[in-house]
Amino acid sequence: MLEYSALIAAGEAAGFQHVAPLKVSTIELRQEVRDMCAANSCGKYDKNWSCPPGCGSLEDLRQQVAGYTEGILVQSVGELEDEMDGEAMMETERRHKANFYRFLDELLPQYPGLLALGAGCCTQCKACTYPDAPCRFPKRRVSSMEAYGMLVLQICKDNGMRYYYGPCTISYTSCFLLK
Ligand code: SF4
Repeated sequence: MLEYSALIAAGEAAGFQHVAPLKVSTIELRQEVRDMCAANSCGKYDKNWSCPPGCGSLEDLRQQVAGYTEGILVQSVGELEDEMDGEAMMETERRHKANFYRFLDELLPQYPGLLALGAGCCTQCKACTYPDAPCRFPKRRVSSMEAYGMLVLQICKDNGMRYYYGPCTISYTSCFLLK
């Protein structure tokens, strides 16, 4: 069993406002979430090794996730001036991603087999090599939870973490599956 109190303290020290144990048994990889990726409202579908279809078939990803039983959820929450406050949304996302990659570097020595799933597509390189050449940094490539077919709202709920913090807020959630 993971040392959750130490992991939660480390996650909070890394800058996340909320950190919670994640039971992998609550994770379901859903075709309907992948179908939302295929609708391409973010413009990243078929453009990056971290996104569908480049990140693998749902069956491949199910086999990957089946190798884990425990993990943690990490979350950043931002306050918006109003519902259209794009600047604060981007700033919260930037803060979440910076903390996420810093925490990934902290966890890797202790959990070299971890699976890190972030928010949004991989932005490690200015331009992704997809589909012309292999990924430059496969160990640091990060897919989103959605790219794996995860419904973030349901996973938060089933692991005792809020997803919505009220009007004029935005939350970004990521997870680390650890072994
Ligand atoms: S590490 Fe670079 S090449 Fe690999 S998925 Fe991320 S952006 Fe693309």
